[in-house]
Amino acid sequence: MSSELTAEQEALRASVADFAREVVAPVAAQHDREHSFPYDVVRQMGSMGLFGLPFPEEYGGMGGDYFALCLALEELARVDSSVAITLEAGVSLGAMPVFRFGTDAQKQEWLPRLTSGRALGAFGLTEPGGGSDAGATRTTARRDGDTWVIDGSKAFITNSGTDLTELVTVTAVTGQTAAGKKEISAILVPVPADGFTAAKPYDKVGWNASDTHELHFDGVRVPAVNLLGEQGRGYANFLSILDEGRIAISAIGVGLAQGCVDECVRYAREREAFGRTIGSYQAIAFMIAEMETRTYVARCAYYDAAARMLAGKPFKRQAAIAKLYSSEIAVTNARDATQVFGGYGFMNEFPVARFWRDSKILEIGEGTSEVQKMLIARDLGVG
Ligand SMILES: Cc1cc2nc3c(=O)[nH]c(=O)nc-3n(C[C@H](O)[C@H](O)[C@H](O)COP(=O)(O)OP(=O)(O)OC[C@H]3O[C@@H](n4cnc5c(N)ncnc54)[C@H](O)[C@@H]3O)c2cc1C
Repeated sequence: MSSELTAEQEALRASVADFAREVVAPVAAQHDREHSFPYDVVRQMGSMGLFGLPFPEEYGGMGGDYFALCLALEELARVDSSVAITLEAGVSLGAMPVFRFGTDAQKQEWLPRLTSGRALGAFGLTEPGGGSDAGATRTTARRDGDTWVIDGSKAFITNSGTDLTELVTVTAVTGQTAAGKKEISAILVPVPADGFTAAKPYDKVGWNASDTHELHFDGVRVPAVNLLGEQGRGYANFLSILDEGRIAISAIGVGLAQGCVDECVRYAREREAFGRTIGSYQAIAFMIAEMETRTYVARCAYYDAAARMLAGKPFKRQAAIAKLYSSEIAVTNARDATQVFGGYGFMNEFPVARFWRDSKILEIGEGTSEVQKMLIARDLGVG
């Protein structure tokens, strides 16, 4: 594993960094303040091919890999985590399950739209009654002739209520296993649909420009062929999607942590106190040095997890370590960056205040820190 990028990877990273600086950054504060979805930014990300990064060209993708997606996510999160999570959820939760587990017909139907960013897909696993214990799913799907009839609710679903949202994949109980446990399957629900409602957007602490809704399914009917993957494999398949997704969330954490360093270096060289720049005081300089150190180590962790995944090696533990560490250092860096900015760090007009509000969810979404520790411990044979 090397932290050196190839020329192609560096070109991608640099072009997304330019886009983030020139297109995303100027409107980030406004979308955060107004809690508005950045349609224009998302449309441009679609034109750049970002939603198609890890997919083959035959499905409208860019023919890249998951690491390419992570590089793009890191650069976007360096200026705006809402935009980064919109891309992450659109690719990793929206399109990837179709690519990994879909039939040829499902791939042909959905992937060109999702990989171009013309449409957004969402994945509904979490329910109001619980997210960590995803096996406790209560939503049901029963067969009625050639259709599935879906009833239940999903909570906190990203990209599920935008004007671009055309697909919500849900996990639902479709029966009982031989051992008497819930049989959980994944089903593709094209939206809008009769009986489907997305409740009004949540009033969140951060990720204000990302779209998140509670969803209700009241007798929603979809064709039987909308089953995604094997019947009864929905839970297991989705856990494997989450393993990959943790590397992507780690990249977002690294981006946010790096964004904190960027802002602090600039501010510490300008802001003066007691006749000197605050960066000339070792207390501030060391705080920034520690922020950069944590960011570098977290980046190495996600690069390594991605390299193992792409080499076909076991990567579950490394992905959980990368997600756990990156999300925690993102929170620490955001807290320290706010400190470096003093009173201005507590003002929403400064990016570090937004970074602080955006950082906490990284320790919760796609598996809490406690869940990551459970996965790491289990992989070590304890817990
Ligand atoms: C903004 C946002 C976007 C999201 N997007 C999506 C999405 O697109 N799709 C989707 O399906 N979900 C999504 N989620 C849901 C997210 O994945 C869950 O919130 C998360 O998995 C935690 O589930 P929970 O909120 O039900 O917390 P709970 O599972 O109720 O956990 C509460 C606390 O208990 C701890 N805990 C639970 N079980 C254990 C245990 N066995 N041992 C130790 N501690 C434990 C947890 O770590 C946590 O600290 C999103 C959430 C948010 C806030």
